[in-house]
This record gives sequence, C-alpha cells and structure tokens, in this order.
Amino acid sequence: MGGDHLGGFHAIQEYFQQKVCRHCSRHFEQGGIELLRQEPGVLVVRVTCQACGQPLGVAIVGTTPKAEKQKPRCNSEWTKKDKSRLAKLPKITYDDVLSAHQFFRELGSDWAKHLPTTS
Ligand SMILES: [Zn+2]
Repeated sequence: MGGDHLGGFHAIQEYFQQKVCRHCSRHFEQGGIELLRQEPGVLVVRVTCQACGQPLGVAIVGTTPKAEKQKPRCNSEWTKKDKSRLAKLPKITYDDVLSAHQFFRELGSDWAKHLPTTS
C-alpha cells in the first residue's frame, strides 16, 4: 500500500519528461523533478529544467482519483488548511503557489491517466 505514492511520483516524473521547457524547448529530465513533500493523497513536486536551469514551477498533485472526484483540487480555492500546510514548506514562496495555480490550469485533468490505477 505504501508504494502507491512512490508509484504516483514516478508517473508524475514520466509525465513531465514528456513536456518541454518553454525557455529552451528541451525535455525535462528525471533529475529535475523533485518530490518536495508527500502526504496521503497529495504529492508536491518542483520541476526545473536541467538544461537551462529555469524552473517550471511547483505542482500540488492529488494522487487519489476517488477523492479528487468528490473534492476537485484543480482551479479551486485553496482552503486555510492547504495554505497553512504549504506554509510549513521552507522553499515554497507565495509566488510559487500562484504559479502552481497557473501550472495546474495547463495540466488540465488528463494528468490522472498517467497515474497507476489503484481501484
Ligand atoms: Zn530549459
């Protein structure tokens, strides 16, 4: 059971490795995709282009498809709990959180299809 999150992170890495950097048009590499934090049903990852060093942003990714249906995370207002939880992260600034919002919009909802099916 504990391997689900790790599997989800690998799927996220694979997802971003299919994307290209908007600054240098090279594919993101596995080493540029960091797992910042992991909690039940949620992974926080930071994606940085290893070719030119430009950060793509921080993504907060839900890894529980069932929970996501009941409580969509994309484009929804963040709760106080979410903000305070993220406030504990030393490396993420509020600007990062804002860019994560925009980032999510680009992700759309199809990222979930890259995740392993657990149900
Ligand atoms: Zn780049």
